[in-house]
Amino acid sequence: MDWVTQALAGDRRALARLISFVEDDGPQAHRALALLHPHSGHAHIIGVTGAPGTGKSTLVNELAKGLRAQGRTVGIVAVDPTSPFTGGALLGDRVRMRDLAGDPGIFIRSMATRGSLGGLAQATGDVVKVLDAVGFAVVLVETVGVGQAEVDIARTAHTTVVVEAPGLGDEVQALKAGLLEIADLLVVNKADRPGAAQTARALEAMLDLGRSDNGWRPPVLQTVALDGTGVDAALEAIAAHRAYLQESGQWARRERERARADLLRVLERELLHRLRARAGEDVLEHWVERVAARQVDVYTAAAALLDGLP
Ligand code: GDP
Repeated sequence: MDWVTQALAGDRRALARLISFVEDDGPQAHRALALLHPHSGHAHIIGVTGAPGTGKSTLVNELAKGLRAQGRTVGIVAVDPTSPFTGGALLGDRVRMRDLAGDPGIFIRSMATRGSLGGLAQATGDVVKVLDAVGFAVVLVETVGVGQAEVDIARTAHTTVVVEAPGLGDEVQALKAGLLEIADLLVVNKADRPGAAQTARALEAMLDLGRSDNGWRPPVLQTVALDGTGVDAALEAIAAHRAYLQESGQWARRERERARADLLRVLERELLHRLRARAGEDVLEHWVERVAARQVDVYTAAAALLDGLP
């Protein structure tokens, strides 16, 4: 596992190869992750999510620049479940390339559909683990907040930033997507546009109504990612949230939740994998036919398959 050693030593090309390798999954990838695991657990993982066009990519770019100015290293994972391309230039990659390229303290990876949304969540989690293990102080995970899979990805972060923009329609987008409940920080980006203050007020009102927080009320901030206005305040709020998590014991709790979700996801996958391997595809097909022909119901078929295992 030379790539692991080299990546841990700071070799960026080895890191890129290692990540591709981990994304492709398989026993070797699992071995690499096992070697990396003891090194992980130090990064602050920040999810940034919101509707398309709210300015997430631009904002992530600015946050990364701000963090670099503080001397912190930053890994960026940009996840776009709606894009069929893998490893290509996605989302705001071009903007990012222009601003951040060439800085060894920054590493950017784009991820797209991997057959299933569950697979994407898994792959994203693994890539975040790699970046954490090789020592990035902060890992920014950018996802398009359109569905459950994105919500799940955002949920794996320590701090979740939900991005809104004025003028994307009458309703507050975060509410529609069910993102309000997972927000630790709400950012109304494009504050240079009319209606930003109104959107911020609407979010505050919803927070008043909806949430019963145990100690942390998500602040509602306004930014202009295009020129960096408000980005320092957003970084301060992110740092405050981190401090809150650590002082309240929530950091440890979130780590445990992450470990649990991770373990269950892997178990689910592995159990299915083993079942298919042991039963054999022919036997599986046999039961599929019987269910389709209404000879047996799906629960009976599943029970028979599970019971029939050696
Ligand atoms: P994403 O789809 O949420 O990642 O959004 P992007 O970062 O790609 O931004 C979408 C568009 O909004 C781009 O044309 C950006 O230049 C623009 N944009 C981003 N932030 C701002 C902002 O603060 N103000 C204005 N007026 N435009 C912005």
